[in-house]
Amino acid sequence: MRLILLGPPGAGKGTQANILSEKLKISTISTGAMLRNAIRENTELGRRAEKYLSDGQLVPDDLVVAIVKERLSRDDCKNGFILDGFPRTIVQAEALDASGVKVDKVLSIEVPDETIVERLSGRRECKSCGTPYHILYNPSKSGERCEKCGGELICREDDNVETIKKRLAVYHEQTEPIKGYYGKQGKVVSVHGREKLEDTVKEVFSALNIDTQ
Ligand code: AMP
Repeated sequence: MRLILLGPPGAGKGTQANILSEKLKISTISTGAMLRNAIRENTELGRRAEKYLSDGQLVPDDLVVAIVKERLSRDDCKNGFILDGFPRTIVQAEALDASGVKVDKVLSIEVPDETIVERLSGRRECKSCGTPYHILYNPSKSGERCEKCGGELICREDDNVETIKKRLAVYHEQTEPIKGYYGKQGKVVSVHGREKLEDTVKEVFSALNIDTQ
């Protein structure tokens, strides 16, 4: 399965990506996580990307396309992958097509704007491995720590009301048109991002024809 996850910030793409990744035994490629890592490690990429992330804007297409192409060329992507947060513009989608990478499906997770701010204010992520949580809808079984690696759970810097509003505007302007792009290729399936994680998971598995056992 070569899958793209699409949806506004806070729709639960990262959470669904993790669940699907374990179920299907394929890697998740999260451009947001790759960029945040690069910023933490103060690499050249991180230094170039930092201002865009903190301002809620998109990192220039050429930078992101380059890191995704490199990542997709690795062995663990040969049998499939889940792209979380890429493509985010038509230019990126065209670049992916042009690189010869074939995508099977685009899963669009729909969440109304009104609920995004509330959702994102409860979001946490592991400082070490990036696993996403939500204090109400997807709490860690290990309390204040990551249930996978024991890392510290933190709020993302761009999850503040002002930046969230900018990210939503950017999503509607630049990313949502991708639905039409892949719609023409007959690849889009849509689900509702529900409050209860298990309800969304059920819908996602059924939309992708994945056995729940
Ligand atoms: P995310 O973790 O997917 O919410 O991404 C966090 C931030 O990383 C976004 O607000 C952008 O600044 C940047 N970013 C992630 N993916 C992309 C992408 N495909 N194109 C451009 N910028 C991106």
